[in-house]
Amino acid sequence: MSSTPAPGDECRSRTKTGTPSLGARIHALTAELYPICRSIAGPGVRQTLEILDREIGLGLTEVPTGTPVLDWTVPREWMVREAWIRDPSGRLVLDLSDHNLHVMNYSTAIRARLPLGELRQHIHTLEDQPDVIPYRTTYYEDRWGFCMRHRDFMQLPEGEYEVCIDAEHRDGHLTYGEHVVPGLSDREFLLSAHVCHPSLANDNCAGIAVLAELAKTLKGRRLRHTYRFLFAPGTIGAITWLALNEDRVDRIDHGLVVSCLGDGGGPTYKRSRRGDATIDRAMQEVLRHAGPTARILDFVPYGYDERQYCSPGYDLPVGSLQRSAYGSFPEYHTSADDLTFVSAKHLAASHDLILQAIEIIEGDWVPLSRMPRGEPQLGRRGLYGAVGGVAQGDGTMALLWVMNLADGRHSLLDMASRSGLPFSTLAAAAGRLRKAGLLDELEDTQVQQGPVTVTSAPPLPRQ
Ligand code: ZN
Repeated sequence: MSSTPAPGDECRSRTKTGTPSLGARIHALTAELYPICRSIAGPGVRQTLEILDREIGLGLTEVPTGTPVLDWTVPREWMVREAWIRDPSGRLVLDLSDHNLHVMNYSTAIRARLPLGELRQHIHTLEDQPDVIPYRTTYYEDRWGFCMRHRDFMQLPEGEYEVCIDAEHRDGHLTYGEHVVPGLSDREFLLSAHVCHPSLANDNCAGIAVLAELAKTLKGRRLRHTYRFLFAPGTIGAITWLALNEDRVDRIDHGLVVSCLGDGGGPTYKRSRRGDATIDRAMQEVLRHAGPTARILDFVPYGYDERQYCSPGYDLPVGSLQRSAYGSFPEYHTSADDLTFVSAKHLAASHDLILQAIEIIEGDWVPLSRMPRGEPQLGRRGLYGAVGGVAQGDGTMALLWVMNLADGRHSLLDMASRSGLPFSTLAAAAGRLRKAGLLDELEDTQVQQGPVTVTSAPPLPRQ
C-alpha cells in the first residue's frame, strides 16, 4: 500500500466551485479524529462524539460504570496523562506524546525503576514488522504495558530503567452517540461504527467519518426507512446499546457495521448471520458492479459489532462493510494505519457504496403484471427499442425481464440478481412499464402474506 495519494485524489479534492469534494471532506474529518487518544470509556470517546455532534448533531447516552448489560458490566473510564520510558542514562526512549499506540490501551498505572530483563516482559513489539508500533489493549485484565517498534526495542541497552504510566481508571460512564435521520416509517436501518480505537486512521476514524458524511447526504431526502447512526465503543458499546434498546431492536430491518473504509483494498462485504437478508442481497448487487477486487464473505462469529447484532437472541439482518478485511493487511492494528494509508478517493467510494445499497433498499418494490399471459406488445406502446432481429440493449432486456418476473414473487432486487442487469436499469424499466399500465405495485401486505398466483392479478386492460 503506497503512501502517495492514489490517482485521482487531487482532482477529487476540490470541486469546480472551490468547495472541498465529498472525499476531501471525509478525509478532513478522519484527520481531525485521528490524533485523539480513545479507549472504551473516558474522555477520548467523549471528545470524538463532541466532534460528531458539531458535524451532524448527536444524542448522547451515558451509562454508569458498573451497570449490568447482558452478560457484561459497564467498565470504568480510562484516561492517561503521560507514559514514558527512560534508559539507564536517563534518555527518553519511548514517549506517549510521540504516538498514542505507545501505551497499551487501558493499561494500569506504573511508576518504577526496573532492570531491562523485567521491563521486556511489559513491552509489545512486532518482530516481523520491526518499523511499526503495534496496537494492544488490556480491557479485561489488570496489567501495564508499552508498545514500541521492534527495531528500537532491540537497541535498548542493559541496565536499570525508569518507567511511568500516569493512567487512571475511575468510575464514570460509558458513552455512545446516536444520530437519527427520520423516514416515512419507523422501520429502521442501523449504521454502526466503533469509536474506541486510538490513532488508527482506517480502523476506524475512516468508518466514523464516512457515516457522518452519509448522515448529511441522507438529510432532507424522502426515505421509507428511518436511519439510525450509532457511534459506540467496540463490543461493550454495542452490547450496552442492545441491552438498553431491547424493546426496539425488532424495528431494525437492515443494518451495516462499518470499519476500515479508507484504504485501497476490497471492498469486502460480510453477510449477516441470516445470509439472505435484504441487506445481504443489496450489498451483493452493489459489489457485483464494484470491480474485480470486490469480495463477499459468509458470516463468521468474529469481527466487529456484527458479532453482537447477529448473536442468536437478536439475529438482526446486519452485515459488515470494509475495504480491506480486518487482519488481512499489514497496516492493521499498527502505527502504519495512519493518515497516509487512507485516501479521499477511497473514502468517497465507500460512502457511495453504502448509498447505493440504501438506494436499492429504498427503491425496491414488487411489480405485478397486469398482462401475464403471453408477452404484451411492447412496440405498440412505444417501449420496444429496436427493429426485430437486432440485438437488444440492456433497456429492452430489462423490460422483458421485468414483465417476465412480474408475478408478484419477485422484487426488483430479485430481478437484478436473476437477470444480471443493474438494479437501476430494472427500476427504470419497471417505472416505464407501470406508466404504460402494464404493471402494478404489489402492496407490502400482500407480499408478507406469501406467494400470490397470477390469477389474482387485476383484470386485463381493454386492447
Ligand atoms: Zn480494530
